[in-house]
Amino acid sequence: MASNDYYRLLGVARNAGDDEIKTAYRKLALKYHPDRNPGNDEAESSFKEINGAYEVLSNPDKRRIYDQFGAEGLKSGGGRGGFGGFPGADMGDVFGDLFENLFAQGGGSRGRPRSRRGADLKYAAEITLEDAFNGVKVPVNFERTELCGECDGTGARGRSGVKKCPTCHGAGRVQYSQGFFSFSQACPECGGQGEVITSPCKACGGQGRSKKSVSLNIKIPAGVEEGAVLRVSSGGDAGPRGGSSGDLYIAVSLKHHPHFERNKRDLVYECAVAVWQAALGGEGEVPLIEGGRTKIKIPPGTQHGKVFRLHEKGMPGPGGRPRGDLLVKVKLKVPHDLTPRQRELFAELALIAGHEVPPPEEEKGFFKKILGA
Ligand SMILES: [Zn+2]
Ligand SMILES: [Zn+2]
Repeated sequence: MASNDYYRLLGVARNAGDDEIKTAYRKLALKYHPDRNPGNDEAESSFKEINGAYEVLSNPDKRRIYDQFGAEGLKSGGGRGGFGGFPGADMGDVFGDLFENLFAQGGGSRGRPRSRRGADLKYAAEITLEDAFNGVKVPVNFERTELCGECDGTGARGRSGVKKCPTCHGAGRVQYSQGFFSFSQACPECGGQGEVITSPCKACGGQGRSKKSVSLNIKIPAGVEEGAVLRVSSGGDAGPRGGSSGDLYIAVSLKHHPHFERNKRDLVYECAVAVWQAALGGEGEVPLIEGGRTKIKIPPGTQHGKVFRLHEKGMPGPGGRPRGDLLVKVKLKVPHDLTPRQRELFAELALIAGHEVPPPEEEKGFFKKILGA
């Protein structure tokens, strides 16, 4: 059925209305859907073509261009997706829960549907680098949906508060026909439970669940990395009608530290060293993440950017593995606002090295004049 005529592909007239196009597409898409035709390449390519045709004809702008210029007119910026490129937004609109059921059937769920799982919840926790070093318990306060304690999640006031669903007679599913096909669907009356509530629980109004404020202390292990996500199994919302709970996810981020940059298990510290200290050698002081400070030796002739490595003074490794290193990076500090004596000494150094020394202070006024500052 390869054709560039989208109207012929969908089997509709050129003046067909939106609903007519939608109905035709829906019928054909069901017929050629890959789930119904496993391993059938012909059906798969037909399915693609139908989708392509519908994508154009269901969009008033694209349809107008197509009517005027044909498929060629849509080539630039038409942007048709490949296989699986459903006409996105319209998909749900056209099929509703039809496909959902199609897939559910393919998945082999028969009879009563599985109870649905509750929603996962996400919580962001920002901790200090020190807390990441030591490990920390973070109080997490949030709201989640929990099973109603009054009715144990059934939503009914006692066992006498429910009766067999009159629509599905307790089966939980109903059959209906779509063209040549017959589908079974979760019963809309009872949501697939086979029972309906006649007398709702007073505490939850028949919902079986209610919102609760929850406070948990979440243990964040030592050495946790920026962006790590911890999972608290079943810490999320309770599922509807006795379904299992979702999970709670804690996304960990680290606060900026005044001294240290972190590079996985290593820490980086920028150590300011005076010019004369770098030239003559001396000692520098370095803070430690566990608290306190340590001294490092600065050898004579140390250059800007030189890195000293302090072994196992970094962050803890996971599972008790050794700590990373502390990298101390030398940052040369050039003095400004020299005292007259300091200036004299620097000038002497400059003269020894054969550099010309500008006259003191006047330069400022001189440049100010030139720049008109
Ligand atoms: Zn209740
Ligand atoms: Zn029912």
